[in-house]
Amino acid sequence: MIAWLAVAYAAPEVIVLGVAQDGGHPQAGCTKACCRAAWDDPALRHHVASLAIVDDGKAWLVDATPDLPAQLHELQRRGLTLAGILLTHGHMGHYTGLLHLGREVMGADAVPVWAMPRMATLLKEEEPWALIGRLGHVQVRSLADGAPVALDERITVTPFLVPHRDELTETVGFRIRGPQRTVVWLPDIDKWERWDTPLTTLLEGADVAWLDATFYADGELSRPMSEVPHPFVVETMATLADRPDLKAKVRLVHLNHTNPALDPSSAAARAVTEVGLRVAREGDREPL
Ligand SMILES: [Zn+2]
Ligand SMILES: [Zn+2]
Repeated sequence: MIAWLAVAYAAPEVIVLGVAQDGGHPQAGCTKACCRAAWDDPALRHHVASLAIVDDGKAWLVDATPDLPAQLHELQRRGLTLAGILLTHGHMGHYTGLLHLGREVMGADAVPVWAMPRMATLLKEEEPWALIGRLGHVQVRSLADGAPVALDERITVTPFLVPHRDELTETVGFRIRGPQRTVVWLPDIDKWERWDTPLTTLLEGADVAWLDATFYADGELSRPMSEVPHPFVVETMATLADRPDLKAKVRLVHLNHTNPALDPSSAAARAVTEVGLRVAREGDREPL
């Protein structure tokens, strides 16, 4: 009875299940220094960015990544049951893990999957996603910009639209509100100045915010980086230079395999910490 009470009344929380960009780390095809050590040593690898929202023995995944098998196992290891999935957008790192819910693998039973309108249409009309729905393994539910969804009586999640290479679907971040605290999950966005919400406003409305940190600085890729716009970590640090209160709320996430801050012993990771931000790590927890 006491154990049951402890579970039932434990504060809801979020747990970081992955911190890397869509391709994970190490990344397919990469034999350069950024991935070499991680190919040799599995302990140095990173899962694709995902957050678990946890309450009362249940967990809702934010995004269904290609690393969903390991991330789901991590939930089970903690005694948590998958209660649903919320999707940010239709790039490969954020929804293709849904394949594991289908007949070939889990044969899941009507897992709720919340998605914005274009994303929901893709899941309902394009194969192989539509088949997973027809067979009853997932149940696609609609999200609307700014409209809160109640996961249970203590937690709401509100999607907000952001600019991002939206070839296939719109892109959202999530504001996750619990009884005590509010956190933000925003793994993908174009440059901050392309969004009508200032970064400072976003952070003022949250206790903790995981922010797109795909690249550390310009020149990191050998191809033109304007093709894949993201806020550079150095730009995020500069934007918040005179706001130590807001820097303390930032957790950098969705790091590309080329981002030196993935390695905690790097000069880049030290620079981030020295100015008062943090790089997200798998297993990080924040109460809601
Ligand atoms: Zn992504
Ligand atoms: Zn994306």
